[in-house]
Formats: sequence, structure tokens, C-alpha cells
Amino acid sequence: MTVSLVARWLMVWMLATVLTFPPGAAALAQRSIPIVRDAEIEALVAEYTRPILKAAGLSKAGVEIVLVNDPSFNAFVAGRRMFIYTGALMTSETPNEIIGVIAHEAGHLAGHHQERLRDQLARAQTMAVVAGLLGMGAVVAGAASGSRGAAQAGTGLAMAGGEAARRGLLAYQRTEETTADRSALDYLARTGQSARGMLKTFERFSSQLMLSGTRVDPYQISHPMPRDRIANLETLARKSPYFDRKDPPALQQRHDMIRAKIAAYTGGQGSAARLFRADPRGSAALYGDAITTYLYGSPRNALEKIDALIRASPSNPYFQEIRGEILMKANRPEQAAEAFAAAIRLDPHKSGLLQVSYGQALLAAGKPDQVNRAVAEIRKGIDRDRENPSAYRYLAQAYGQLGQIGDAELATAEGHYYSGNYQEARIFATRAQMRLPAGSPGWVRAQDIINHRQPGNRN
Ligand SMILES: [Zn+2]
Repeated sequence: MTVSLVARWLMVWMLATVLTFPPGAAALAQRSIPIVRDAEIEALVAEYTRPILKAAGLSKAGVEIVLVNDPSFNAFVAGRRMFIYTGALMTSETPNEIIGVIAHEAGHLAGHHQERLRDQLARAQTMAVVAGLLGMGAVVAGAASGSRGAAQAGTGLAMAGGEAARRGLLAYQRTEETTADRSALDYLARTGQSARGMLKTFERFSSQLMLSGTRVDPYQISHPMPRDRIANLETLARKSPYFDRKDPPALQQRHDMIRAKIAAYTGGQGSAARLFRADPRGSAALYGDAITTYLYGSPRNALEKIDALIRASPSNPYFQEIRGEILMKANRPEQAAEAFAAAIRLDPHKSGLLQVSYGQALLAAGKPDQVNRAVAEIRKGIDRDRENPSAYRYLAQAYGQLGQIGDAELATAEGHYYSGNYQEARIFATRAQMRLPAGSPGWVRAQDIINHRQPGNRN
């Protein structure tokens, strides 16, 4: 049997129709917008976000963080989702810088800014529908991919962001900006954090010149930073007793690790080394080097590098996860399964993504007795995290091997559904119903998929 190359850097590619930037150029182009799923980055960003949302009174609002794999600096809230770009994480040298941006965005959320759009987006059940409402078109497919496509997608999204901002879709009113700034200061103070990072980010945007023809970060377009706004913010920020407070060293360390990872996955071979050239023997540089070697070099060298990191930090679940990925690439799925199992044991956040990787490795090992285990693990992963199109692909493969064709058809239907391919989803759901007992839970779920209508689509 063949198993596609594992990429823990899972992406959902969205097909977007955007105008080029500057808007006058108006050449219509199709672009892909990647959403990235990664257990380590998701866990850290959740830790950044949770106290802020609590201070904002949004703990129970079910806010979901979505990571967009794009090198530009951007973050915005839409409905109950907060979109954060990997470029914003990588550009932020400290946790405090990105936490400041998160606090500002939480201010928009709590202030009910752009309510009407938000209402629609809040009702959107899947990421695919969100993409549609944001004018990004339909989601095409769940696909695993390396770094090249991501780099190409970058400019496209900067353009999409610029165009959306130009139309006022995601650009806020000036009064809303002031409100969000004040709210952010409040949330940061209440969580005992400095507003210095937010100030630093905003100052950077205020000093950059917007020149046509060069790439402009979408955040800069949706967030004009006139001098008086920065000055105002600085005066207030300096009044906080926490203004000089630094991020805890352990948090800074984890932040550096995800920056190294993002650089390695999205910036090409020398990227992580460049980012940490000031400390080339530090663990962030070594982590970036191990991932770069996994992506571009030999699995044997990559394995040596990750094993050295594991010896230094045996309780880091994400080192085990990378080890699993390297072993999958080296076509050693049974050992990969052991590494993923170790990652799951060590992961305090119980990421569904690790569970799916584990199931995938068991499936790739190709032993009949392990296929049932694979199904159980992938299902556990899906229970924690429904919107993972790749998980359904592996689940369908596993059911196929077990001869449970109805379940395989339903899993394929789910994968299409969460990718936004509703027509394909209906076809497979219909096929699933022909195999599954009428009225069984699977049959009922297939009926839900068949009945699904995209918002705004009357047919
Ligand atoms: Zn804003």
C-alpha cells in the first residue's frame, strides 16, 4: 500500500479570488490561502490568548484561534474566530509583542465592532464557510504540503488582505481603533503584562512607508497608525505598573522555538539559522536546524539532530512529534508510531493532531491488527478536533482496509464537507447511506451532510 508523505504541517488550502494590490491594477487572480495546523504553535498561542480573553470577559464566547500560514504580518477577528498569521508570530521577537496584538484584537471582539459581518461569521459552522464570507472563495481541498507553496501563497494573501481592507470589510473605524487600544491596555494591565510589545509593533507600522509596488503588510492597511494614536498609546502604556515587566524566560524560550519552526517550514533552508544567528548553538537554532534537515536533508542526519534535542529535553512532546515525522519520511512507520505515542503521552494539551499522526503511522505500518487501532486513534483525534480534513482521509483509508466501505464513504464525505466541497461531500454521503443501516448514527450524519446548504446559497 502507499501512504502519502506525512506532513505535520497540515494545511487547508483555500481558493481565493482577489484583486491585485494596489487596487488600481485590478488583474483578477486566483490565490490559495493556507491555514496551518500545528500542535505546538496552537498550544502556545492558546496560552497567550486565554488570559486576555478572560480579562475581556470572553472566556465563554467560544473564541477559536486560526493560524494562517502566511509570512506577512496580520491578525484580525471575524465572528468568534481570531486569525493570527505565522508572519506575525515570527516577526514578534517576544511573546509580549504578539500578546499585545491579540489584546487589541480581543478589544475589537469585545467591543462588537463590525457586528453584522461578525454575526454572519459567528454562525458559520466551518472554516470553509468563513472563507466564503470573507470573500476568499471556496475551500478546495485538504492537502499536505511542504514550504514552497506556502511561500508562493504569501503575496497573494497580502493582496487579499489589502483588498478586503480597502473595501472596508476588515478595516475598522477610527473610533473603534481607539476603543480597541484602550481595551487592550486594560486587558494587559489586568493580566499583569506590559503594553510595550503592542506599542513596539504599532510603532513599526507607523514608521513604515506605504509605497505602491512593494509588499505591504495587511495589518498596516487595516490599522492605520497616525502619530497621535501612537503618542496617545505610549502615554497610557507608560502609566501601567507593568510597563517594564518582561515575559517569563520559559515562555520566551517556547516562543523562540515556534519562531524557529515557522522559519524552517516557511522560509526556506537558511531561514531559521538567519533568525537565530545571534545564538547559533541555542535550542531554537538547533530546533530550526533539525526541522530544516528533515525537510531538505537526509532523515538520518535529521534524526541525529532531533535525538540530541530529545536528550537535552526529554519531556518535550514536539521533539517526539518531529522524530515521528522524520521516521515516517524514512519509511519506518512502526518506530514513527512509537514516537507519536510518546508525543501524546507528553502533551499536556491533548492535541487531536498528534492522535491523528499516531493513527496514520499505525496505518502505514500495514499490519492488519494495527488498522483497528489506527481507526480508534484517528477517531479520538477527530473527537477533539473536527475540522481536520486530512484526518478524514486517513480514516477513510483505514476503513477501506477493514472493508467497512460505508464508513469509508462517510469519512470521505466528512473530509470534503470540512474542506468546503459540499457537492463532493453530498455524493459521498449518498454513497455512504447506501451501505450504512438506515437510521444508524453514520446514516444520520450522512443525511446532515446531504441536507447542508451553504449560507447565502438558496439552492
Ligand atoms: Zn484594530
